[in-house]
Amino acid sequence: MSPKTFFYSMHKRHFRDLAGIIAVGIVLLVVMIECDFFEHLVAFSFTHEEWQIDECITAFIIIGWCGFFFGFRRIADMRKEIKARKQAQEEAYHLANHDNLTHLPNRRALNEHFAQTVRGMPEPFFLSVFDLDGFKAINDIYGHITGDKLLEEISQRVATALPKGDFICRLGGDEFAVLLHSAKSETAAHAILNGLAGLIASPVIHGSTALTAAATFGVSHYPNDGQDISTLLRRADVALYQGKRNGKNIIRFFDMDQDHLLEQQSMIAQALREAIEHGYVRPEYQPIVALDGMTIAGFEALARLDHPVHGSIIPDKFIPAAEESGLMTELTDYLLRKACIEAKHWPAGIYLSFNLSAIDLRDPLLPDRIERILLETGFNASHLEIEITETAIVKDIKQAKLNLDMLRELGVRIAVDDFGTGYSSMAQISRFTFDKLKIDREFIDSMVINEKDDKIVRCMLGLGHGLNMPSIAEGIEHDYQLQWLREAGCEFGQGFLFSKAVPNAEIPELLNRHGCYIPQTPRKEPAI
Ligand code: C2E
Ligand code: CA
Ligand code: CA
Repeated sequence: MSPKTFFYSMHKRHFRDLAGIIAVGIVLLVVMIECDFFEHLVAFSFTHEEWQIDECITAFIIIGWCGFFFGFRRIADMRKEIKARKQAQEEAYHLANHDNLTHLPNRRALNEHFAQTVRGMPEPFFLSVFDLDGFKAINDIYGHITGDKLLEEISQRVATALPKGDFICRLGGDEFAVLLHSAKSETAAHAILNGLAGLIASPVIHGSTALTAAATFGVSHYPNDGQDISTLLRRADVALYQGKRNGKNIIRFFDMDQDHLLEQQSMIAQALREAIEHGYVRPEYQPIVALDGMTIAGFEALARLDHPVHGSIIPDKFIPAAEESGLMTELTDYLLRKACIEAKHWPAGIYLSFNLSAIDLRDPLLPDRIERILLETGFNASHLEIEITETAIVKDIKQAKLNLDMLRELGVRIAVDDFGTGYSSMAQISRFTFDKLKIDREFIDSMVINEKDDKIVRCMLGLGHGLNMPSIAEGIEHDYQLQWLREAGCEFGQGFLFSKAVPNAEIPELLNRHGCYIPQTPRKEPAI
C-alpha cells in the first residue's frame, strides 16, 4: 500500500469510528432520558453512600476529560507526522524526477510526462533534443564549475522562455529535450526553437569570463515519427546527429527517407550497447585447417549477436555500428577477453585468431589493452594471432606500424585479412612484417573458373612463399577448391566445407571429427 492510500484509508477509519461513537452516544442518551437514568443513579447513590458512587463518577468524568485531552494531543502529533511524511515523500519524488544541477525535470520525469500526454486522445506535438556545440571544450578549458554554471544559466533561460504548457528536461550532460505542445506546425516549432537558439547563443557571464555556446536541435513529431518515447527520442537524436554533420547550430527535423540508414545504425548501436552489458554478444569459432594433413591448426573468433528484441544481427551490420558509435574498443576488449578465457582450455598448439578493426589499429593504447587482457586471462601471447585488413592499416600507417611492432614484440602473430581487396600498395605493405596472409573469399570463389583469378591466387601464394608467410585461403566451400589449393601449395584453409563458426562447447567434437579430415562430398568439376 502506498503512503497516500494508507493515509487516505486512515482518515476514512477515523470518520467511521467517530460516527460510531456519536451514534452510540445518541442511543445511550435517548435510553437514559427514557428511563430517568440519572435520577435513579442519584437516588441509588444516596441510599448506598458507603459505595462512594458519586466520587467514582466524578473520577470517571475527570479521567474521561483527561483521555479526551490526551487523544486530542495524539491526533495533533499524528497530523504533524503525516505532514512531515508527505513532505519527505514530495522531496523524494522531486529528487527522483529532477536533475540536481539545473533542477529541471529529468529523463524519468520525461517518461512520466509522455505517458500522461498520450493517455486518452493525445494531441500531436514535437519533441526536440538539443545539445550545446563545443560544451566539452568549455569544460576542458575553463573547468567543470564554469561548465556547470553555463548549463544552469542556459537551462534557466530556456525554461522561462518556453511557451506555457511546453515541457523541458535535462537528459544528461549537455543534452536536453523539449516537448512543444504549443506548436501546431513545423514552422511554429521552428520559430520556438529558433527563439531558444538565440537565448542559448547570448553570452553567459561567469566572473570575468563571457562564455558563448550554441545549440543544434534535432526534432521528431508525435505521432508521425513514432508513438513511443524511445522511438521519438531516437529519431530526434538521429536528426540532431545529421544536423551536427551538416555544420552545427542548426534545427533539423527527422526525415524518414534520408535518415533511415542512420536510424538503423543508431538502433543497432543501442542493441550492441545492451548486448555488451548483458552478454548477448559472444565469439564463435571457425576452424583454420592445415591443408597438408587436414588437421585443425587454430580457430578464428567471429562475433555473434543475438538480441532478445531485435533477434540476431550480423557482424557486417554491428561492427560498423560499433565503429560509428564509439563502442568498438569496448566490444573488442569484451570479445577478446571472452575468447582468451575460452581458448585457454583448447589443446596445446591450437591457436586463436582474432579480428581487429581500423579503430583498434589507430588506438595508441592497443598494445597495452591486449597485453592487459593476456595477463588477466593468463592466455599465452604466442597462441594469439591478430587479423587486420590492408584498409585498416592504411587509415593511419604510422600508428598501425607502431602498434603491430609492439604486438609482435609481445609474441603475438599478425595476419593480413582479406588480402587483395583493400586499398593498400605493395610499397606501404612492405614496411610491415606479417606472419600470415589470408586470401579473400572473392578470389577463392572464382579462381577455378576464372583464369585471371587463378593467376592472381597463384601470385599471392608465390608472394607468401617468397616472403616466408604461410597463406590461408578463406571461404572454401567446395572440394574442387580444396584440391586446387592443395595442389597450388596453399598452407591453410578455412570455409564452410570444413565448418562454419561454432560455439566453444562444440570445439572438442569438431577437433575429434576434423583431426584427420577427409572430404566426403564428390568432386565437382569446374565449369571450364
Ligand atoms: P572476415 O574476418 O573476413 O570473416 C570471415 C567471414 O566469412 C565470416 O563472416 C565467416 O562466417 C564467413 N565465412 C567463412 N567461411 C565461409 C564460406 O565458406 N562461405 C561464405 N560465404 N562465408 C564464409 P561473419 O562472421 O559474418 O563476419 C563478417 C566480418 O565481420 C568478418 O569478416 C570480420 O571482418 C567482421 N568480424 C566478425 N567478427 C569480428 C570481431 O570480433 N571483431 C572485428 N573487428 N570484426 C569482426
Ligand atoms: Ca578475419
Ligand atoms: Ca577475411
